[in-house]
Amino acid sequence: MRSELHTPTESAGSKIPFVDLPAQIRSLQPELDQRVQEIISSCSFIQGPAVERFNKNFLKIHGGAFGVGCSNGTSAITVALRALDIGPGDEVLIPNHTFFGTAEPVVEVGATPVLIEIDTEYRQIDWTAAAAKVTAHTKAVIPVHLYGLPEPMDQVMAFARQHGLRVIEDCAQAHTARWNGRPVGTFGDVATFSFFPAKNLGAFGDAGYILTQNAELFDFIARYIDHGRQEKYVHEFFGGNFRLDALQAAILDVKLGKLLVWSERRRELATIYNELLAGFQVLKPRALATPVYHLFVVEVSNRQAVMEHLQSQGIGCGIHYPVTLNQQPAFKAYGYKSGQFPISERMVERILSLPFFPEMTLNQVERVATEFLRVAKP
Ligand SMILES: *Cc1c(COP(=O)(O)O)cnc(C)c1O
Repeated sequence: MRSELHTPTESAGSKIPFVDLPAQIRSLQPELDQRVQEIISSCSFIQGPAVERFNKNFLKIHGGAFGVGCSNGTSAITVALRALDIGPGDEVLIPNHTFFGTAEPVVEVGATPVLIEIDTEYRQIDWTAAAAKVTAHTKAVIPVHLYGLPEPMDQVMAFARQHGLRVIEDCAQAHTARWNGRPVGTFGDVATFSFFPAKNLGAFGDAGYILTQNAELFDFIARYIDHGRQEKYVHEFFGGNFRLDALQAAILDVKLGKLLVWSERRRELATIYNELLAGFQVLKPRALATPVYHLFVVEVSNRQAVMEHLQSQGIGCGIHYPVTLNQQPAFKAYGYKSGQFPISERMVERILSLPFFPEMTLNQVERVATEFLRVAKP
């Protein structure tokens, strides 16, 4: 298996991008062209067969009961909160270390985001810290399967039951990841996905998906994203326009055919990185998790020097994310400031995302690791 990853053409000086979207697109070009042309010819740009087809196919691959495409991963969370009737006066628990888009929808619906510290080992929600933040107003928790590493869903659901909370799983980075053999997103009340271009499954623009096991919630969600209607000009309630474009649905449907293979390759590449970078703190999936590694994140004490060296060698890298939520200017309004979350604040000064994409060759992984090891300090 691994020898297939070797390409003898990889030379020492060639550039290694952080993510290689052009390579992915090239591998699917004829099919993408055909499906896009079909949409253009049909002029069925809003709703229609391409959207229905992708809605079904994503659900099939993900194992949920009900699901529908939507405009993006952030609005997916907004819609989920609306479906669960969360609004002014309510508090929602979210991890302090995640993309800002996890938090915005909570504010959008008028509720209050309550930040939770992460643990030192798995870098996910610390459930003891979470319990200390529960009040009479707490209505929901948003576990985030960040980097494609599943949160411990048995523990999450037990926590939610104990405190009477609803659960929205933010699966923006975790398409087809599993917890104890079962797909993430099928545990909570609602799950949300992003198809931002660089995500594990990416559109050619913005797109997202909302999944639920609950028929009643789905009935609301499906109408909410389409102006609160069931019939064309009969609007039963005030929703909005959060629909998935037909063009994006067609593109996503082509890429979906590769998603399981890409996820497997991500696990394989991460295993190799892990072996090569022994001695450094890297992402650690829990024992019952089947991760899908959205990114490959390693921690170093001399990040600036490592980044400069990698860049000088033509190797891309990034930081996901350089600022914790409590340190974001926007969170000042909620009384948050620097120094309140020592574990996540320290982590974001140490994390570095190395080049990582399913089309990456073993030689590329080895070259990144070699250059990284020349400079990096744990
Ligand atoms: C990408 C992302 C989002 C937001 O998705 P968009 O489609 O960009 O709106 C939310 N949460 C997490 C964890 C993400 O990675």
